[in-house]
Order: sequence, then structure tokens, then C-alpha cells
Amino acid sequence: MKDCIFCKIIQKDIPARIVYEDDLIIAFDDINPQAPIHTLIIPKVHYTSLNDIPLERLDLLGHIMDKIREVAAIKGIAETGYRTVLNTGGDSGQDVFHIHFHVLGGRRMTWPPG
Ligand code: AMP
Ligand code: ZN
Repeated sequence: MKDCIFCKIIQKDIPARIVYEDDLIIAFDDINPQAPIHTLIIPKVHYTSLNDIPLERLDLLGHIMDKIREVAAIKGIAETGYRTVLNTGGDSGQDVFHIHFHVLGGRRMTWPPG
């Protein structure tokens, strides 16, 4: 989608530190990390948010969950633990309207989240 920063990363129009990529998804390091490990995982098809994914594409979410585990292993935080965050809409703090899962680790997380 035109003017979507994450679509530009998928197209390689803007650079990113890519951690993993396949036909369906791409994972890259967050430009403003909130933890020692902070990687984003996005589908290559542009969906604005969780609200935008049709029922017949819920398989994509299963694939993303599998790859979150793989990214955690690549980053060395599968055993120490990690937090997966999916912000949806204004109140959640979603800033980029191309659905993305945050994977955060490498430090002890706090709860409740801000
Ligand atoms: P959210 O607030 O859930 O929409 O998160 C958007 C995330 O995208 C933030 O953590 C940003 O730091 C990150 N971000 C924005 N632009 C880029 C970029 N060009 N490369 C990597 N991460 C980015
Ligand atoms: Zn997009």
C-alpha cells in the first residue's frame, strides 16, 4: 500500500535489519527498541490491524505465531522468555497501521503494561 512505511520495508524501498523472511511474513528489528531484543513481525499483505484480517485469512495468524517462536529462538530469548504485543487501534497506542507483532525480550518485563 502506498505511503505505508512497513509496505516500503517489504518492498526493500527503505532499509531494515531483517531477522527472518518467507513468502508470507517478514521480521525486522524495531528502529526504536524498548528492550535489548525488540523485533517486529508483519504479514506481507497489508492489513491495517487485527480488526482488518478476514476470517478466511486467520491461518496467517497461526503462521505468525509459529514464526514468533522462531524469531525468539534466533534472538536467543526462547528460553529466558519474551513478550509478544499486538496493538490494535488508537487506545492501544498503535502508530503504524500495518498489523505488526512486537517481540520483546532480553530484560525482565513489568506488569501491568503502560
Ligand atoms: P505501534 O505503536 O504498535 O504501532 O508500533 C510501531 C513500531 O514501529 C514502533 O515500535 C516503532 O519504533 C516501529 N517503527 C516505526 N518505523 C520503523 C522503521 N522504519 N523500522 C523499524 N521499526 C519502525
Ligand atoms: Zn502496509
